[in-house]
Amino acid sequence: MNNASGSIVHVAFVPSAGLGHLTPCLRLAALFLRHQYCHVTLITPKPTVSLAESHLISRFCSSFPDQVSQIDLHLLPFDPTSENSSDPFWLHFERIRRSLHLLAPILSSLTPPLSAFVYDVSLISGMIPVSESLAVPSYIYFIATARMFSFFSHLSVLDAAKKHAGGHPASFIGDAVEIPGIHLPVPRSSIPPLLLVPGSLFEKIFMEDSPRLTKLDGIFINTFEEMEEEAVAALNAGKVVPGLPPVHAVGPLMPCEFEKEQDQDMSANSPLKWLDAQPEGSVVYVCFGNRTATTREQLKEMAEGLLRSGYRFLWVVKLKMVDKEDDEDLEQVLEPEVMKKMKEKGLVVKTWVNQGEILGHTSVGGFLSHGGWNSIVESIWHGVPILSWGQNGDQKITSEVVAESGTGVWPVEWGWGGEAVVKAEEIGKAVREIMSSESLKARALQLKEAARKAAGVGGSCEVKIRTMIEKWKKKNVVY
Ligand code: UDP
Repeated sequence: MNNASGSIVHVAFVPSAGLGHLTPCLRLAALFLRHQYCHVTLITPKPTVSLAESHLISRFCSSFPDQVSQIDLHLLPFDPTSENSSDPFWLHFERIRRSLHLLAPILSSLTPPLSAFVYDVSLISGMIPVSESLAVPSYIYFIATARMFSFFSHLSVLDAAKKHAGGHPASFIGDAVEIPGIHLPVPRSSIPPLLLVPGSLFEKIFMEDSPRLTKLDGIFINTFEEMEEEAVAALNAGKVVPGLPPVHAVGPLMPCEFEKEQDQDMSANSPLKWLDAQPEGSVVYVCFGNRTATTREQLKEMAEGLLRSGYRFLWVVKLKMVDKEDDEDLEQVLEPEVMKKMKEKGLVVKTWVNQGEILGHTSVGGFLSHGGWNSIVESIWHGVPILSWGQNGDQKITSEVVAESGTGVWPVEWGWGGEAVVKAEEIGKAVREIMSSESLKARALQLKEAARKAAGVGGSCEVKIRTMIEKWKKKNVVY
């Protein structure tokens, strides 16, 4: 581990549970690994919630055999009934948070010593004591929009100002949250629902971590200035929270080589082969990420809606939140007649797909998404117009960013996923809109170019990573 200038930058990355948290972590780590004098130690909480996570970790580590070391963090036993949540991913966040103190003794003897920690936003309270005890700078990676980060960080300001109102966001947040420096307030109806449930695990983690953001050394966000210029500027000008450390827009974090499955399914029925046989821009791709299950009733309306849209479709169906449990067949949910029509017009899969490749396929002309930020960024990267239907969490706030950017639409009246059943007719109409709108297409292509510039050689992303490495290098001793 040596280099011309004699100094190695050694960064420990700590992801949290779920692909939506792991994938951007590894993509960010891969950006640092482009620099040969950078070494990464990946801390992997074990067990993972989903199979997809453990597969991705293995692929990442074997892709960088000389530059990446892996250290397992064996999670302490955890009683899920001790927390007010039924979400396996949030419960896992908490389990990881409660096990993080195990890291300090494991990491204290690493050589070369660590230059920085970069960890998931959900781990702040657990990681700050570890980084303080090892005297290693602390950075987080934020997996959502800069708009969401502004809201998250501004919560502590609101809380401090309104303590007398009860301390719960449900009581101190009114109809909308005005964030200094950001022109569009966040309506109460867009706030992650669980934040408004007093005593929920979600609320607990948010409220515990928001005031600690000023203790960090920096924040990496998967966004880029053309997409969210106003929010990034407001954050860095100290308008949102005084004393906030620098916010580095290092997006778009794009799919990397290591994400490709070695044994990709290229049989006649595989999504990519099927797409090959469709005309250019003719297919709407439908996928709600890796942890959003759709209700049976909504599935039926979606099936009918996709058929009514008249467009071809590639639909990734998820019936259960956690992949290990997803053993039901679509035939058990949809009528044989509908199944028959669907087979004529589209391809429905229940398996994990390589979304990056799908969105990059020329036959895909639109994306019906659940508003997961990784998915949205991937769509922007490929210039694909988006129909963003926020299902949960920060996904309505993301949908606001999508609509504001002009690269997609957000049917506000659809509400959260599962709140009310959105009818087939509406779904069909919205799909037709994104598939046929010339203005959406034009804006999507504009943002695609901006995204590629930001992530390209000499772009904002590269400059920020290089500057960070130089900064950490200066603090290092020579080995
Ligand atoms: N993804 C994928 N194949 C699938 C489902 C999801 O590659 O079948 C990837 C998708 O490309 C994205 C991530 O999983 O990178 C999902 O993250 P996102 O933030 O969009 O949503 P989440 O799953 O966290 O709700």
